[in-house]
Amino acid sequence: MTHPVRAEVVVDLDAIAANTAVLRERVGRPLMAVVKADGYGHGMVPAARAALAGGADALGVAVVEEALALRAAGITAPVLAWLNGPGEDLAAALAADVEVSVNAVWGLEEAVAAARAAGRTARLHLKVDTGLSRGGATPDQWPALVAAAARAQADGEVEVVGLWSHLAYADAPTHPTIGLQVGVFEEAVVIARDAGLTGARRHLANSAATVALPHTWFDMVRPGVAVYGLDPLGGDPAVHGLRPAMTVQARVMLTKRVPAGAGVSYGHTYAPERETTLAVVPVGYADGVPRAAGNRAPVLAAGAHRTIAGRVCMDQFVLDVGDDAVAPGDRVVLWGPGTGGEPTAQQWADAVDTIHYELVARIGGRFARRHVGSAGAV
Ligand SMILES: *Cc1c(COP(=O)(O)O)cnc(C)c1O
Repeated sequence: MTHPVRAEVVVDLDAIAANTAVLRERVGRPLMAVVKADGYGHGMVPAARAALAGGADALGVAVVEEALALRAAGITAPVLAWLNGPGEDLAAALAADVEVSVNAVWGLEEAVAAARAAGRTARLHLKVDTGLSRGGATPDQWPALVAAAARAQADGEVEVVGLWSHLAYADAPTHPTIGLQVGVFEEAVVIARDAGLTGARRHLANSAATVALPHTWFDMVRPGVAVYGLDPLGGDPAVHGLRPAMTVQARVMLTKRVPAGAGVSYGHTYAPERETTLAVVPVGYADGVPRAAGNRAPVLAAGAHRTIAGRVCMDQFVLDVGDDAVAPGDRVVLWGPGTGGEPTAQQWADAVDTIHYELVARIGGRFARRHVGSAGAV
């Protein structure tokens, strides 16, 4: 007898590859698949391989450690790591042929020092802050950064391979900030090109911009969440030809009949109106099931959606299944593609007042992760 898995996150690698192929085909230009944060909870290395199998031209991650983990797994595709603070081990990144992003003159100086230490040319993406007020040089700082980078490039220490920025409102495709940011970006590109940085690829579009805003595509797009099959606009991913890759499921641990009025879970915030069957599900907020899901989020159990009954605990939550037949070991599905009657991550996001990004990126803890499909298999 094999032991049924208590709780697992099942990831369909073929869906990741197919989503990548759909996006790549739609834009008709290079695509950098974003695999930061453990591939948005899907497993960074398998997700990266599946995205490459689907036609991704490059991979994007936040931090250098993520890039080095991709290299350690044998992945040789271009990788950009963009979240670099002071003192980052850029020499290790350059030695592993990882491209890094620079936000400021001090960052450029660190990259030059790392290039000398590693004995290599640093391949850099210069980031301009076009209005998100997060990473990137402000338009005021940009000319000095570009001039310093052009000097370092002339000296052979760096090669500027990217000019890039990030949108604040791509998920609201008609928002006026989009046009303003594109305008600032285009001006920044002109300044960089006039300074001699003519070989760089321009990239601006995240998933929402990749599906909805062709004028933001420039020389490469940079989708993350859409690669995993979630609609960046918060609607039905099938509209964009996308299919969610993640299914989150668990086995019922225990069932019991309780009388009307029984207080359920901590604080007794739920009580059934009549005698009923409760099912205890062995996952909780330590596993990434938000505590806010108590009395709000839907779960597929015994063929129907049930709202979680009472509070989500650290390790478990409870369902009220009425008089339906549920036994220990039965499968319950928190979210998945929705094609088998289960709720979607979007429905969960709506129920707990967050975005699906946060749900998939945080699910983990004691969930086992299982990859299915063959895309990118080694
Ligand atoms: C995470 C991230 C992306 C991908 O965003 P999605 O909305 O998931 O497509 C792209 N660019 C940057 C800078 C990011 O931080």
